Amino acid sequence: MDNKASQQFIKEANIKLVFSLIHKNKKISRADIKKITCLSATTVSTLVEELMVEGFVSECGIKNTKSSGRKAVMLKVKSGGGFFIGLDVQKTRIEAACYGLDFTLSEKIEHPVIKGENLAMGVMHTVGRLSRKRRILGITIGLPGVIDPDTNTLISSTVMAAEDAKDIYSTIKEALPDVDIYLKNNSGLIALAEKEFGGHEHPENLISVDIDDGVGAGILIDGEIYDGSGMAGEFGHISVDFNGKRCKCGSYGCLELYSSMPAILDATRVKSAKEVKKLSGEKEKEALKKSARALAFGINNIVNLLDPELIVIGGSVRETGDAFLNPVKECFSEISLIKNKKIVYSELKENPVALGGARYSFDKLFSI
Ligand SMILES: [Zn+2]
Repeated sequence: MDNKASQQFIKEANIKLVFSLIHKNKKISRADIKKITCLSATTVSTLVEELMVEGFVSECGIKNTKSSGRKAVMLKVKSGGGFFIGLDVQKTRIEAACYGLDFTLSEKIEHPVIKGENLAMGVMHTVGRLSRKRRILGITIGLPGVIDPDTNTLISSTVMAAEDAKDIYSTIKEALPDVDIYLKNNSGLIALAEKEFGGHEHPENLISVDIDDGVGAGILIDGEIYDGSGMAGEFGHISVDFNGKRCKCGSYGCLELYSSMPAILDATRVKSAKEVKKLSGEKEKEALKKSARALAFGINNIVNLLDPELIVIGGSVRETGDAFLNPVKECFSEISLIKNKKIVYSELKENPVALGGARYSFDKLFSI
């Protein structure tokens, strides 16, 4: 790296550092930034000025301080200075949301996916609506399957035909050539949303388990989404009984056969998660316990392998309430080496794929 390039690199790293501090602290003075970063007062002032010109940061009043002398002007992130879009592309609909720089929700929309319709056009329509009159800084499209990061295409999916999603990246990039666009597996984005917005203490290692029609898992290791070679997180196909039923994946006794929402409803002979919550028959309660037990064994396998700080369960299974979660926890503490592992339901109210997607683009732009 020549001298000019190194200086540019340091400046970029420093500007990201300053922005991150303002973002993290909500309100902060230039003097406090100087203290934390050990950058000179002149450098901090120059970088803040650049961020203000860019429209990312604004001044927001004077710091309340008892000491006399110069009052410190506080800085904050300008929510409308830029926006990030996250999309959750599902089999039957696209859910998308747009967030400001401080992650205030600006707008969310849904677009139905009609059979035979070009998926890229549906995504483009959604992005087009959200990017109207907004300065978009990044877009992340969450898809249910394996993504090739080199070609930005969906390689395979058990939910949709990969072929239907092949033009998504190129279509959006052509329309918005200056915007960073990412395609990511949806489960990893859920894990990222949980880390940043789940109300936990920003765990660096966590597993988010999503239970709906299938059972998936998002893995966060040292704060980063872990994709493996692309297939990591196929939690539903961890076997919890090798003498069990044959699964569509080819294995036997996969977790999905016992703990997915359709499997739970089938075992307890009811039609909705809410009905599972109110089960009264002993036979049905026992069947639910079996489903919960399968999940507890699956979670224990992950815990033994990765020892995450936290396991967060999301998806429609949350509607079964403690009726399902309590036996999961009871069985886990009975079989696990680490008894006090936290297993909780997700409390995110917004679509976690869209929210995690917006955060992913944000991190790509501002992480050092
Ligand atoms: Zn399987």
